[in-house]
Amino acid sequence: MMPRTVLSRCARLTQQVPLESALSGKQSVQRGMSSLSVPPPACMLRPLEAPLRYLFGPGPSNVPPRVLAAGGRPIIGHMHSEMFGIMNEIKQGIQYAFQTNNSMTLAMSGSGHTAMECAVFNIVEPGESVLVAVNGIWGERVAEIAERMGAKVHTLAKAPGGHFTNAEIEQALAKHKPVLFFLTHGESSAGLVHPMDGIGDVCRKHNCLLLVDSVASLGAAPLLMDQQKIDILYTGSQKALNAPPGTAPISFNERACQKMFNRKTKPVSYLLDMNYLSNYWGNDGKPDRIYHHTGPVSGFFALRESLAILAETGLENSWRHHTEVAQHLWKGLEDLGLKLFIKDKDLRLPSVTTIAIPEGYNWKELLAYIMKHHQIEFTGGLGPSVGMVLRIGLMGYNCKKTNADKALAALEDGLKQCRKSKA
Ligand SMILES: *Cc1c(COP(=O)(O)O)cnc(C)c1O
Repeated sequence: MMPRTVLSRCARLTQQVPLESALSGKQSVQRGMSSLSVPPPACMLRPLEAPLRYLFGPGPSNVPPRVLAAGGRPIIGHMHSEMFGIMNEIKQGIQYAFQTNNSMTLAMSGSGHTAMECAVFNIVEPGESVLVAVNGIWGERVAEIAERMGAKVHTLAKAPGGHFTNAEIEQALAKHKPVLFFLTHGESSAGLVHPMDGIGDVCRKHNCLLLVDSVASLGAAPLLMDQQKIDILYTGSQKALNAPPGTAPISFNERACQKMFNRKTKPVSYLLDMNYLSNYWGNDGKPDRIYHHTGPVSGFFALRESLAILAETGLENSWRHHTEVAQHLWKGLEDLGLKLFIKDKDLRLPSVTTIAIPEGYNWKELLAYIMKHHQIEFTGGLGPSVGMVLRIGLMGYNCKKTNADKALAALEDGLKQCRKSKA
């Protein structure tokens, strides 16, 4: 807690700024003769209120104090040399987290979707063929993104929770001859972690780039960008990385850069054009960095700190820890008589567990009860898994056996209180 005196001094300081500028400005408008037709809203004259909650859903997750503190540091200019230094450190942190030596590594100014669009917009040209593995919402989204920019989209589809064999993938690659194949590593809408081995080789054999979404799995389940021959990999800040939402690490290898920087047409998005972003991140080898957009300075501070925590913990420790806590949760859920949605333990995503909705319950009521009485967020399904699953996410800072026990106790209470009468 900040001492009261400090708090009120801060409050006075922030009030002083508009006051001073109002005083120094021209006093042409008299009080009572305002030309404004919209008055200051009453809510804006009250302080911000945000409740404390246990974020045990699929993200965002609770952010450790150290990361919050980093994000709360005074900001510096987005083009200051110190900021470029911090961006270079972020790059190295991402290279470690992704297990890649790619120099074309950076963080997007935006959420996971920004990275999704950046990858598709920069790699694919209108009219080119794209293959998207759809086994939950993320494939659906990428298919739509690719369609919007004019790609010829083919899908390889399974029900939520399903996964694809390398033979199935290879067949579809041979048939559609795509320039890009998209696969979700941690399918958070279904709770599935997709096997990765050999898929990179299959893609290379068919001269196709492999794009992988690791937003929900990075730091929680093993993934090795270079060794697994992933050409483009992205993640988000707010899941197992435990930074606030709003930044998204991404990396492109040499093959991806070859395609991306030798296109005939400009990418549809100016903001997401890698020609500019690679310069902004100092990845293009040019001596000068030119203003493109103002990156989220505070978000980058926080992201750097979350990557520092991952580096200190060690990736392998982080993977092991997520698996151990998830196994503890899974056992507790089964002891409550619940059925896990993904039957095969090896295919369960350690960061987000999906539970088949138990019979005799309205899942929305159950979640609302748990939120109201335990201040815990669990969620239902998303996209095609809505009405099929409940989701519990224990990632990064939240990934503790004590939190799994807290989640189980809340769920047990909810199951007792929310059962529908048989009448
Ligand atoms: C959460 C999530 C995203 C989307 O991230 P946003 O930050 O909400 O844009 C993408 N892919 C997966 C697998 C996710 O879990």
